[in-house]
Amino acid sequence: MAATSAAKEQATRAVVVGAGIVGACCAYALRRAGFDVLLIEKDEPGRAASYGNAGSIGLASTPPLGMPGMLKGVPRMLLDPRHALIIRWKHLPRVLPWFLKFAQTLKPERVEAISHARAALLAHAGEAYDDLLAEIGRPELIYGNGLIAAFETDETFAKARYGMELRRRTGIALREMNAAELKAIEPALSDKVRKGIFFPDVRTTTNPLRLTEAIVAAFRARGGELAKETVLAFEGGDAGIGAVVTDRGRHPCDLVVIAAGAWSRRLVRDLGDAIPLAAERGYHIMIGEPQVLPKTPIVSGDRNVSITPMEGDLRMSTMAEFAEIDAPPDHERALRIFEGAADLIRDLEVKVASRWVGSRPSTPDSLPVIGRSPRVPNVLYAFGHGHLGVTFGAITGRLIAQLARHDQPNIDISPYRPDRDYAGGHLMHRLTGKAS
Ligand SMILES: Cc1cc2nc3c(=O)[nH]c(=O)nc-3n(C[C@H](O)[C@H](O)[C@H](O)COP(=O)(O)OP(=O)(O)OC[C@H]3O[C@@H](n4cnc5c(N)ncnc54)[C@H](O)[C@@H]3O)c2cc1C
Repeated sequence: MAATSAAKEQATRAVVVGAGIVGACCAYALRRAGFDVLLIEKDEPGRAASYGNAGSIGLASTPPLGMPGMLKGVPRMLLDPRHALIIRWKHLPRVLPWFLKFAQTLKPERVEAISHARAALLAHAGEAYDDLLAEIGRPELIYGNGLIAAFETDETFAKARYGMELRRRTGIALREMNAAELKAIEPALSDKVRKGIFFPDVRTTTNPLRLTEAIVAAFRARGGELAKETVLAFEGGDAGIGAVVTDRGRHPCDLVVIAAGAWSRRLVRDLGDAIPLAAERGYHIMIGEPQVLPKTPIVSGDRNVSITPMEGDLRMSTMAEFAEIDAPPDHERALRIFEGAADLIRDLEVKVASRWVGSRPSTPDSLPVIGRSPRVPNVLYAFGHGHLGVTFGAITGRLIAQLARHDQPNIDISPYRPDRDYAGGHLMHRLTGKAS
């Protein structure tokens, strides 16, 4: 492969921890830039959060998870057994500091600033995948049918207006539609759907697992190494970390990239960095070969459920469950939510072929952590992508390779830096010229 001269001179040995979509993209981009790369994964590549998601390349997702006025609705959400937001009470003491920061992000001016910071990364996310998939010869892994946000009542549609205007202000293309217009785009919608928003620029992967696997395969084809080992610790060296210690041995290195999704919090704590990262669990079911298969991905605005066609099957996904990563799953609750959302599709029978739970690596400000460790100069962070890890995979890989080469990233990455104010205060000068 053609290594860049800078990387050749450094002859750098990089270790990437975690082979989800983010780690896979980082490993590929580093290898492409000429680094000697070892990708370490404790399981098989792409089998954690990157396996079970809704597969959306969510180019319209500028609004964050937390929106103004949300707090007053939280008690009702938590008491409603059909709501997608859950906090496991035993977990509350651990996740409380995260929620206190989250609560501070809900001020309208912070939501605005966070949305613009998400938009800045989203603006490059699609093109980064185009380049990556063209290069590895797998462009068919992402298709572009747009996304329908479907609403069952005028009331829920009216509540979505703030998010819609926020999207418009951040440059997102969208069209408000009535039921007839929506059905013209997606005939599988049922009469329950009264209104909707169509996002023409949203794309979807045909299969999230295959996407990660294809990138890992391309990484290996370029001479990258993959090891099935669990990273346990780091050993100090001249430049910071000198070796990564796993359950199978010790790997000397010049550079480490932490891309371990929701598990990253513990790893970076060992490096001395306290980053607020929650495991925000989501669930899916697969409905095998349904009688009616929509061709357009749909998200229910009333029920927080994504309905995504995947290779002839249908995936329904939902939930924001704050719990330990390995707490026992509550598939029954998820099923009740899916059964309600199935009414949006004409004649859809919920015959569950398989079910899944996994953890989004979520920060309070809905921004990923991309940048150099504040304490250890040869460690780069690439995690915390929350609801947009698939979307931001390729662009994160590109940025990590630029940082590894000490090139100036082609995007201002200060909003995503590891030592930021996770309550969004650091973004305020962008809007007002002063911190708040
Ligand atoms: C229900 C649901 C729907 C979603 N829908 C979308 C969507 O439509 N679009 C979108 O963009 N995003 C979506 N997401 C979010 C997206 O799935 C995640 O943000 C993304 O997968 C995170 O990728 P990752 O590589 O950071 O983490 P992961 O995929 O979790 O990968 C981390 C990897 O690190 C490995 N690892 C951890 N610790 C160690 C260790 N010590 N040693 C070695 N390996 C280790 C793990 O085994 C794992 O494979 C969704 C998430 C869920 C749960």
